[in-house]
Amino acid sequence: MIRVTVWNEFVHERQHEEIRELYPDGIHACIAAGLEELDSGQELEIRTATLDQPEHGLTDEVLGSTDVLLWWGHCAHDQVGDAVVEKVVHRVHQGMGLLVLHSGHFSKPFKRLMGTPCALKWREAGERERLWVVNPGHPIAQGIGRCIELPHTEMYGEPFSIPEPEEQVFISWFEGGEVFRSGNCWHRGNGRIFYFRPGHETYPIYHNPEIRRVLHNAVRYLAPNTWWSDITSAPNVPRDQAPEPLK
Ligand code: ZN
Repeated sequence: MIRVTVWNEFVHERQHEEIRELYPDGIHACIAAGLEELDSGQELEIRTATLDQPEHGLTDEVLGSTDVLLWWGHCAHDQVGDAVVEKVVHRVHQGMGLLVLHSGHFSKPFKRLMGTPCALKWREAGERERLWVVNPGHPIAQGIGRCIELPHTEMYGEPFSIPEPEEQVFISWFEGGEVFRSGNCWHRGNGRIFYFRPGHETYPIYHNPEIRRVLHNAVRYLAPNTWWSDITSAPNVPRDQAPEPLK
């Protein structure tokens, strides 16, 4: 089983009627439903967590039993407690996968793990976006054709101040002419990280079947694949415990 936690700050949906219409139970519930829908092999165990819960719903118990964490935030990044951020970072180093969505580019865990400002250009004009698959053999692009077309999106444009991605899966083109690296992978410690751009709250992005397919692929790709998670200790190996006898 892959244990998945979908985290959302869950603020816009409570404040704006038009956003609540798109996501009546919150963006997290819609993302969770999309993962559930594609989980024909029943390999996912999905739960959600939100900012207003104690420890933002990310207690030691929850984080300790999360294999892949999805993160959606926008207007409340600064309300996320630093202690929780450190625990998320520690779990990524241990091997937990992290899927950072859309405006999560400015979230504390993502910036902390990237070590760069993660800034970008943006425009809200409801323009068309094509997410071109630039890495067709990548597991995250499976089942997707040459591109995903979204009729109305918020624009994100380069330069995106991130470290050079280790693998890039998508690059976006926007009607207004800008481009953006919109699907990028990194490792930090044992953990894998995927940033995926689409997901502005005023458009039904997480209802889109192809976006749901990418999220499902990404969760499977990000699942931990290591036996080693003891990342903090630096044990001494005495002479008599060396793998080969020492004279
Ligand atoms: Zn947005």
